[in-house]
Amino acid sequence: MSRVVVLGAGVAGHTAASYLRKWLGKAHEVMVVAPKPYYNWIPSNIWLGLGLMEEREVVLPLEPIYRRAGIRFVQARAVELHPEGEADSSAPFVVVESTRSEELGNRSRIQYDYLVNATGPKLNFGATEGLGPEKNSASVCTPDHAKAAAKQFLGLVERMQRGERCRFVVGTGHGQCTCQGAAFEYVVNLEFELRRHGVRDKAEVIFLTNEYELGDFGMDGAFIRRNGYITPTNIFTESVLAERDIWSITRAHVKKVEPGKIFYETLDGTEHELTFDMAMLLPPFSGVGLKAYDRAGQEMTAKIFAPNGFMRVDADYAQKPYEEWKAKDWPKTYQSPAYPNVFAAGIAFAPPHPISRPHVSVRGTPIFATAPRTGMPSATTGRVVARSIADKVLGIQRPLHGASMAELGAACVASSGASPLKGTAASMTVFPIVPDHERYPKYGRDLRYTTGEIGLAGHWIKVILHYMFLYKARLRFGWSLIPE
Ligand SMILES: Cc1cc2nc3c(=O)[nH]c(=O)nc-3n(C[C@H](O)[C@H](O)[C@H](O)COP(=O)(O)OP(=O)(O)OC[C@H]3O[C@@H](n4cnc5c(N)ncnc54)[C@H](O)[C@@H]3O)c2cc1C
Repeated sequence: MSRVVVLGAGVAGHTAASYLRKWLGKAHEVMVVAPKPYYNWIPSNIWLGLGLMEEREVVLPLEPIYRRAGIRFVQARAVELHPEGEADSSAPFVVVESTRSEELGNRSRIQYDYLVNATGPKLNFGATEGLGPEKNSASVCTPDHAKAAAKQFLGLVERMQRGERCRFVVGTGHGQCTCQGAAFEYVVNLEFELRRHGVRDKAEVIFLTNEYELGDFGMDGAFIRRNGYITPTNIFTESVLAERDIWSITRAHVKKVEPGKIFYETLDGTEHELTFDMAMLLPPFSGVGLKAYDRAGQEMTAKIFAPNGFMRVDADYAQKPYEEWKAKDWPKTYQSPAYPNVFAAGIAFAPPHPISRPHVSVRGTPIFATAPRTGMPSATTGRVVARSIADKVLGIQRPLHGASMAELGAACVASSGASPLKGTAASMTVFPIVPDHERYPKYGRDLRYTTGEIGLAGHWIKVILHYMFLYKARLRFGWSLIPE
């Protein structure tokens, strides 16, 4: 019997564990280790963060799903990897720390034959002084953060209804953030809600971003086919904001957040201050801080993880200038080069480099969008890694399965107003995610599959996706027919 341990029960880990269970059969054990007892459909935190949904609508308790599926669940946080075992045994193991209240902090070891690291990001609020819901700004990255954001937003709506004016700043809380799409989605939904509550005239709404141009989204922007025209995402995004009277600040690195005041630097090196009544600023991401040890107990974290804490996989990590970046630098199999029975899926793998051109301010501060880490590639890498591991466990001799972000497309539906009749969403597809200027010399992408539209239909697609992906996550009948 083999044991496959999956660290993390987010989009990538839950997908990997579900397929492993399906493909391995009962003779082998699939175990998931995750610190929270629930699965969170993170894209809908945007709606939770404006009071449009309840927490129970965006989370699912994992225990009953896994019990029914035959997946062992351990509620704990992985802290150490020992891929060589230890002196008297070569069996690899992970050290985990319980997060269950009755045994909080208790450490134990879990041996594995194959390991999937799908621990996602550490929400690195600490990178910016005063950033985050425990300090001076709001977030929608977790259900708790989103609930607190909704409370703050609705409190301000009440104040505006009494005649006060308020300023909302939404965006990225550091010069090295990704996930601009989520910030964009929150700002346009927030603006929609201000209108719905009848207080739009009392509010100023600002989008503050580390992107060089609006619409960069960490993928170096894109040219999209739209109504028979080719439009840069820059124009597309700019017009969505302009139509809603949301003004924007680009090329910004937030250095500090004080109660009611943001301090930021822009690429030209100038320093600025911006007051606010509510600021929803996303944090930069890093790896979750797993440490690795060799057989002798010596730390060897740098052998497995990149300096940003994400796991090295089969990418080309050689440092090279932007002009020399190639599509083939991006990983395909997500296998650790150091330990072939260890894989990373979703946000946990280290990208070889950003996709957008890096920029450094005259003060030496890097200010640019880092590589996007969206749901579709996260789930796809979870499935691909599961397939490769299942082959190995079952003795099927074939090459590892692959899914490079330079060969994968992605679809993203960004809600821009949640209402069944008046709502809209911006639907975008890109192919491939990482531009390939050798295959597509003109635009870096295939414009047959790189498209964008905004309209009411998009809103309905977003609602359908919410229910469809939660159905899939529950592992209900036919779940595997629903694509990632
Ligand atoms: C507000 C917001 C909105 C978004 N909207 C969209 C969208 O509309 N479309 C889209 O495509 N993408 C969206 N994304 C991105 C999407 O959420 C991510 O791509 C996806 O969640 C990544 O999956 P993951 O499994 O790698 O990480 P996660 O989903 O973050 O899962 C990580 C898992 O690892 C667990 N974990 C953490 N540390 C440890 C540890 N030490 N040991 C064990 N387990 C651990 C976590 O508890 C969690 O279960 C959004 C992101 C945000 C923040």
